[in-house]
Amino acid sequence: MNSHRRLDTNAPGPLYVTSACIDCDTCRQLAPTVFTEAKGFSTVARQPETGVEWKQALHALLACPTAAIVSEEKGDIAKAMADFPLLLEDGVYYCGYTSPKSFGGSSYFIVRSNGNWLVDAPRFVPSLVRRFEEMGGIDTIFLTHRDDVADAKLYAERFGAKRIIHAFERAAQPDAEHVIEGFEDVRWDNEMKIVVVPGHTRGSMVLLYRERFLFTGDHLAWDRHRGTLEAFDDYCWYSWEEQGLSMEQLAAETFEWVLPGHGERVKLPPADMKKAIQRLVEEMRDGSP
Ligand code: SF4
Repeated sequence: MNSHRRLDTNAPGPLYVTSACIDCDTCRQLAPTVFTEAKGFSTVARQPETGVEWKQALHALLACPTAAIVSEEKGDIAKAMADFPLLLEDGVYYCGYTSPKSFGGSSYFIVRSNGNWLVDAPRFVPSLVRRFEEMGGIDTIFLTHRDDVADAKLYAERFGAKRIIHAFERAAQPDAEHVIEGFEDVRWDNEMKIVVVPGHTRGSMVLLYRERFLFTGDHLAWDRHRGTLEAFDDYCWYSWEEQGLSMEQLAAETFEWVLPGHGERVKLPPADMKKAIQRLVEEMRDGSP
């Protein structure tokens, strides 16, 4: 029984958001024509009208970390469940099923011929575990920083996966199998490069895959309102100055996708991405985020 109240900002109809919402933004990214922000929560701006909108709304319902989205029309929830993880591009997937332990942080799944990777972790949910099994299991779990580990330990145990975390973040996963020390880049293999980016936390790391996909944790995200890259000075737990220096270092890399833990993901042509990150570096130097 959901004891949370239906928010009065919701459009009338069978789909609504309750006061359990923690304003993590997940639903607004997955179903942007249905959900919007109002009074510090998400809310249903208008009821889904098409099959595509219902599907997106059910994806949001499943991905919500606090079960704050309710649908009085059942729809095809089993089919929506089977859609996860959601394909983004070229064997890179968004996991959904965000966890309240990571405040609704996004996690990603990478299918590789020499062993699949999970980047940060979702909730440990049977239907998702089954899908990972069908897709070849999990070999490696890359943890960007301490806040977004969620159920990484359960996935590591279930799949016999090794977890990679930085020494300064190890308290969040004390029995991690591989600990990165220091601040040097780590060329893991010919497709994977780990870049240590102190700032948000002291041991934050990002993962660059094939020089196309950058998994950024809470270091870097897309600001859909300004149409630019952003960093979160309000949520910088270690050093804003060091985060600026880390951003400068990252600007030398080439990539098309920014896939964050919090904030919106984005794909841009590499030259536009370079300009966007350079602009952010300059903003951070000037003291504005
Ligand atoms: S996904 Fe859930 S918790 Fe996150 S903003 Fe939407 S309703 Fe709120």
